[in-house]
Amino acid sequence: MQADPCPPAAEVRVLDQVLQRQQPGLEIRGYSPRLATTMFGLPSLKHWCVWIDPNPEPVDRWSLRWRRGVDSALRQWSQLLPITLVENPDRAQIRVRRQRPRRRRTSTGWRASNGRSILQLVELTRDGQRWREPLVEVLVSPELRAQVLEATALHELGHAFGLWGHSDQSSDALAVHQGSKPVLQPTLRDKQTLQWVRQQSNRFGLISED
Ligand SMILES: [Zn+2]
Repeated sequence: MQADPCPPAAEVRVLDQVLQRQQPGLEIRGYSPRLATTMFGLPSLKHWCVWIDPNPEPVDRWSLRWRRGVDSALRQWSQLLPITLVENPDRAQIRVRRQRPRRRRTSTGWRASNGRSILQLVELTRDGQRWREPLVEVLVSPELRAQVLEATALHELGHAFGLWGHSDQSSDALAVHQGSKPVLQPTLRDKQTLQWVRQQSNRFGLISED
């Protein structure tokens, strides 16, 4: 029998940590210098457990469309990194919710967004062992055109998998603003940047006792 790749979490402790600026490195891949990091290194895991808001009963066509958009976006990223879908949020490091993000106050008024990703760092117990993990709440609004919804999910999931910054090129999935044509696939620059993130050592994962 294979070990459960996503055992449920217990004794969760939220760490008082925020994203911080990266020290400039020598190796630049894609838009890697634009990414934020944490005191434990880039918030990336070798393997991710993802939970997606289930469809409410009775299932309506809006929630079906939402789910289809999120599934398509997740399928794109799953070609680049190992992901297990789970049915219980306790088992997940990434939780995707069908929820419109709250408007944010800016200097010129209020700004609405289609999606948002919120990062926390936690220490928790899985299978009797202590782990340090990123825990990401991904909000994707249900009130979007199908392609915008899919592009929003792709962008927000990119943050969740460790791309905590924005590309300066509008054709990339992680561009600051969506262009007129929604980006439905990670570009080469997105892929190179994610690959770079996954090659960096960090202090996430199993916490050793010594
Ligand atoms: Zn973003």
